[in-house]
Amino acid sequence: MATIAGNLQAVKSRISAAATRAGRRPDSVYLIAVSKTHPAALLAQAHAAGQSAFGENYVQEAVEKMDALARLLGPEAARGLEWHLIGPLQSNKTRVVAERFAWVHTVDREKIARRLSEQRPADLAPLKVLIQVNVSGEATKSGVAPGDVAPLARTLAVMPRLELRGLMGIPEPSDDAAVQRLRFRALRELYERLKRDGLALDTLSMGMSGDLEVAIEEGATLVRVGTAIFGARESVKSAA
Ligand SMILES: *Cc1c(COP(=O)(O)O)cnc(C)c1O
Repeated sequence: MATIAGNLQAVKSRISAAATRAGRRPDSVYLIAVSKTHPAALLAQAHAAGQSAFGENYVQEAVEKMDALARLLGPEAARGLEWHLIGPLQSNKTRVVAERFAWVHTVDREKIARRLSEQRPADLAPLKVLIQVNVSGEATKSGVAPGDVAPLARTLAVMPRLELRGLMGIPEPSDDAAVQRLRFRALRELYERLKRDGLALDTLSMGMSGDLEVAIEEGATLVRVGTAIFGARESVKSAA
């Protein structure tokens, strides 16, 4: 029977193999376990297997889970968890996100960024943020159009309580592996261009259970993996 510890090990092997193929060090790729829809008890199992970074899509669900984990693990261990918001963020939720998360992957406009910076508590490290880029060019998908990323990045980079670390993308799955690869590559090229232009970035968040190998070969430094760790999600809320 598959266990979360076994699944985690298998995912780490996939990450290592892909990194090695790409001539990269396995530890150059950071893994976050995407736990949306899964109960706190499963996150506790992942934590027991050594995983401390978790990605959540829905703010309310995430906060309830943070509280449940503090009860399950104790406050000390719970403080060692690192929470990443990877779902869309509305402006009425920025305060709780600024107070409770370490990372936000889905910043897509200045107004949200400004609120996060203003609301980040003074006793916490600056909030680490990524700009979500719409790499597939689909009107319905969230994220900033590639051409609008550079000006937004320059604006965010000087916000006092934010630390702009890089870009995030969720390319539409494509049956054509070459097309999928090109979408990851486009995001990588945008990221490299921003770095050449002087922004101190170190994080390229791309790749999930089904496509992490291609993403790593194309330069991902952080992969967001749910299904391959926790199993299938029972009810999938519509991806926002
Ligand atoms: C759900 C989700 C994931 C994880 O997807 P899996 O296919 O289950 O690995 C990664 N990133 C984002 C933004 C998600 O919403």
